[in-house]
Amino acid sequence: MNYDSQNFVRVRFAPSPTGPLHLGGLRTALYNYLFAKRYGGKFILRIEDTDKKRFVSNSESYILETLKWCHIEPDEGVGYGGPYSPYYQSKRINIYRFYINQLLEKGYAYYAFDTDIDIERKRKEYNDCGLTFSYNSKNRMYLNNSLTMTKEQLNRRLQSCSSYVIRFKIKPGEKFNMYDIIRGNIIANTDHLDDKILLKSDGGATYHLANTIDDHIMKITHVLRGEEWLPSMSFHMLLYRAFGWIPPYFAHLPLILRKDGKGKISKRNADRSDYPIFPIQWKAPDTQIVIPGYRELGYFPEAFVNMLALLGWNPGIKREIFSLRELENFFSLEKISKSGVFFDIKKVNWFNKKYLNKKKEEILFFLCKELKKRSIQYKKDFLWKIIYQTIDRIHFIHEIWEHSFYFFISPSSYESSFFNKICHKKSISHLENEKILLSNTSQFTYENLKSLFKNNQNKREIMQLLRLSLVGFLKGIDLFMIFEILGKEESIRRIEKLINKIKEKI
Ligand code: GLU
Repeated sequence: MNYDSQNFVRVRFAPSPTGPLHLGGLRTALYNYLFAKRYGGKFILRIEDTDKKRFVSNSESYILETLKWCHIEPDEGVGYGGPYSPYYQSKRINIYRFYINQLLEKGYAYYAFDTDIDIERKRKEYNDCGLTFSYNSKNRMYLNNSLTMTKEQLNRRLQSCSSYVIRFKIKPGEKFNMYDIIRGNIIANTDHLDDKILLKSDGGATYHLANTIDDHIMKITHVLRGEEWLPSMSFHMLLYRAFGWIPPYFAHLPLILRKDGKGKISKRNADRSDYPIFPIQWKAPDTQIVIPGYRELGYFPEAFVNMLALLGWNPGIKREIFSLRELENFFSLEKISKSGVFFDIKKVNWFNKKYLNKKKEEILFFLCKELKKRSIQYKKDFLWKIIYQTIDRIHFIHEIWEHSFYFFISPSSYESSFFNKICHKKSISHLENEKILLSNTSQFTYENLKSLFKNNQNKREIMQLLRLSLVGFLKGIDLFMIFEILGKEESIRRIEKLINKIKEKI
């Protein structure tokens, strides 16, 4: 798709402040950001806070912090300012009122005075007959609205301050074509639409009204949003038409599905999920429950963003590692998948591991901190050697300690199940022999030590005993490398320690 600079790209991320962003929400923000960058356009953050009942106080700061962490900051909008301020819908009510009057005047909207109780009664009536009530062209002439009143009756009603909503008047029996960049042509049928509320009884605009007006006023060229909004598209198209505005392009992004086949990823049960749902830590303002996010668990924002970019978009080449700058150059809407995409935490870990290789300095820093905490002296060269040998075994910086502590701390106890299983009287002589062998080795290097043990008859058993003596567990990197890094003296000291421990046992 070509976008000339005259009609330059303006996209928006328009979250409702109803809680933390989850993976899907953040991916929507990322795709908007990438699309804007790809075409030299603007990425706008608009807070859609029209639903006061669902407002959650710290959502906005959460959204801003998350975007910052991911380095996908808006060019314009809440927290960034811009020519179309305010970017909070709650502060734009006069704009919505101005525009809704246009719809009323043109006959595209009407006042409805039915109370919640009236509507509830209707619902029940329909339900009892096995039907579903919806406020639409079939029944609006039997309901309590301005379409069934004279002008005088309406004026009297409005002056008497009775509460009302304003509804969109859908013309029945019309089929029209819509185009979605990802899904192609879609046929809409107005017979399937109800007369949605545009202005609520508290005077506030609904999502549909505010969203459409703002996208037009803010000169949004492309609406990239989650698939859950696809059913609203036809209604939004009719609103654009009623206003006489050219609609933006639409692209509805595929759902992110759970790998276990249990539907889409959702915020519900986030605290019980077996993988994190939120990008950064969320502290619920009501319960004060804290749910850690990817950031707190040690994921790198670059890895996380790289993973998210490929969760529904494919670059068209056989390559998975992309920096944000590279993504900005490659991204295109045409390569977004139509069908839902499966989220796999193993893949996220894979991405983190790939990026870990570029974080050796940070690993060193972390390791130094752990050693200082324990007042352990160290030499940098020694640490580098350990980092190079262990990095393949870890996915996160913080894992370095559990994979390398034995280089700094001689075991004071031994994993009991192995100790009981492999340490017997006979083991003492095995270990004594190895001790002598090692003491006589002048070149205490990996290759040398490896060849030393090559023809050992009880190789498996002896290797296990030696590993237990050096590590305390039957874990760790290549045994001969551990020997080389620890050096002759320390290795022998540890072997003696295990011999003494076995002697105590028998
Ligand atoms: N406020 C809506 C949301 O939170 C935005 C939908 C849209 O982008 O049009 O998902």
